Amino acid sequence: MGEDRADTTNLGKAIAEITPALEAFYRFEGDDLAARRRSQWLAQLDRPLPARGEGLDTVTRLLRDVVVPNGLRNGAPGFAGWVTTSPTTSAVAASLAATVAGSQRWWVQSFNHLETVALRWLGELLGLPEDLQGTFCGGGSSANIIALGAARQHAFERLGIDPARDGLPARQWRVYASTEVHHVVTRAAAILGLGRRTVRPIVTGADLRIDVGALRRALDEDERAGIHPVAIVATAGTVNTGAVDPIADLLAIARERGIWLHVDGAYGAFAALDPRVAPLFAGMSEADSIAVDPHKWLAAPLGTGAVFARDRARLGRAFTLEPAEYLEGAATAGEPRSPFDDFGDPYHDFNLDQSAPSRGVAVWAVLLEIGKAGMRERVTRHLDFARRVAELARADDRLEVVSEPVLSICCFRYRAPGRDAKELNALNARIAQRLRAETPYVPSTTVVQGRFAIRPCFINPRTSLADVEGMVAAVRRIGDALSA
Ligand SMILES: *Cc1c(COP(=O)(O)O)cnc(C)c1O
Repeated sequence: MGEDRADTTNLGKAIAEITPALEAFYRFEGDDLAARRRSQWLAQLDRPLPARGEGLDTVTRLLRDVVVPNGLRNGAPGFAGWVTTSPTTSAVAASLAATVAGSQRWWVQSFNHLETVALRWLGELLGLPEDLQGTFCGGGSSANIIALGAARQHAFERLGIDPARDGLPARQWRVYASTEVHHVVTRAAAILGLGRRTVRPIVTGADLRIDVGALRRALDEDERAGIHPVAIVATAGTVNTGAVDPIADLLAIARERGIWLHVDGAYGAFAALDPRVAPLFAGMSEADSIAVDPHKWLAAPLGTGAVFARDRARLGRAFTLEPAEYLEGAATAGEPRSPFDDFGDPYHDFNLDQSAPSRGVAVWAVLLEIGKAGMRERVTRHLDFARRVAELARADDRLEVVSEPVLSICCFRYRAPGRDAKELNALNARIAQRLRAETPYVPSTTVVQGRFAIRPCFINPRTSLADVEGMVAAVRRIGDALSA
């Protein structure tokens, strides 16, 4: 053991050493200097592979002094960009516990069963029926791959073909989604061998929801051409503006034609908890699959996605590992006496990963901590924030709403008299850049129907109303300064 210096005993000491740095980080005080200090931390971290180990103390010291203070502040109260945040305390504690004590989601042990409990709770929170089989995965990307994998299985089994076993037949097929669909859905089609180009983009109306008439026409046209439909994808909360496709209408079309309906609710599904927008999600519980990201609105640790799909046996045919002697050969029949006598709840046959971390425990922890009422309050507060941005923008002649809030996103922008469309786009891009560099407010940006917009998306549990109002005021102030 002379050279292999890996410590296996001083866990408490190591954690105690970095805890003050973690706590300081979580206070998000002062300016975010990680980018400006890059040359300093790069010099300390980007070194050649050590020929001989430097020991645990060097590791904890660098974590404490260099790594943590220069980490990613996407949990800071003023951060409202993209759709991620950093986990809340119970989720951090649970994920540390899982790293130590649940370092595999299999076998007869508490973490394996908490996958099951957390999935049941998530399903209940979203109002999903019990026959939707849930599984945790790395995020919305893999959730959409798993869902479309189940859809592919369904579509080709109808033709008497097992695509997971035998591959895709020589014929044409299609997946249908609006032009606002998330690009991971298109990539999922690529990965599954369906092909990116087989995702047929369907136009949206002015509200950026899929045009149901256009979808019907596309389906009819493809049917006449002998093209086989694999899935209709409804986006329940687009990342650009939070638009929710008319799920109930898409469900009716899918049922009429025997097509799989997948709902991509990675960002938005939790909004169904707010009675003001719950009607938009009508039909979601009857979909064939649903992707949802606990690492977004639920503030679970990043790397926590989930997918629910109808018919566990079909999901199993799509993703089975097929028995392997070193795994199944090791399981013994009857009541387990050792944790290793049985695989527990077998998520590895419904998923992309074989070995995988225990993710359910963090979802369980958050839901145990705040309950359904707490999550509903969070969602409601965030929807209120987006409405407040719209209200402030409407009341100010130098601001305008670019997309009315549906969920917790409100796209808006600064406007200045006498500027053409191109100049306004450039001006708002500069405003966003200065916001990030000079203020605590970090919304992201997007382009909505050709108009560049500032896009706060509120899912961060730490954001307050004062942060929301401060962000709008800062946009106005920087806009004034730049256009003076
Ligand atoms: C975030 C998101 C995704 C991708 O999820 P990741 O967790 O980032 O992989 C897919 N679809 C929608 C609607 C999303 O909001």
